[in-house]
Amino acid sequence: MEPIVYRLDSRLANPGDLTSFAGHIDLPSYELGGREFVLPEGLDYDLVLTNGGEGILASGMLRGHVEGSCDRCLEPASFEIAGEVNEYYLFAAPQDARAHDTDGDFGEDYSEEDDDFFLVEDDSVDLTEALLSALLMDTPFVVLCREDCKGLCPHCGQNLNEGECDCASREAERKAEMSPFAALKGLDLPE
Ligand SMILES: [Zn+2]
Ligand SMILES: [Zn+2]
Repeated sequence: MEPIVYRLDSRLANPGDLTSFAGHIDLPSYELGGREFVLPEGLDYDLVLTNGGEGILASGMLRGHVEGSCDRCLEPASFEIAGEVNEYYLFAAPQDARAHDTDGDFGEDYSEEDDDFFLVEDDSVDLTEALLSALLMDTPFVVLCREDCKGLCPHCGQNLNEGECDCASREAERKAEMSPFAALKGLDLPE
């Protein structure tokens, strides 16, 4: 997909300045956990960018209609994305532990996690990653065609939303036949 970049201008020149930034993303589909999702209308974002003094805060919503398939019955299933975006883009990398580390061994207080921030680069804020992660975060772990989907019969594959199969009753019969008491049925036991 095309990167979503906001180029900083005079509207965000001073701390406290804010401006809205909305737009459309033409992403036809995406994948998550081996599942394929289709976005027939793409995605829409509606953000507010704020100059927070040390960086630009981007907050708002990402919305879209998603079509996939039900994890229980494999029939088409759809859901709505309403993902929250909340990301801070620093003007400069923070004075991290490396700068203060007097013994020079890049001490243990400096961890990978300290790299976990976005930066304003070339006077621009690249929102692509923040928007994509909002999409993935808001994609349900289990997608269902309806909340009470009965799924497929594990024995014959019948879609149980469309009707019952006789596997359950046959299974009960089979268990009864296998019962040790079944063998006694035919016996003529003396009283
Ligand atoms: Zn289903
Ligand atoms: Zn069945």
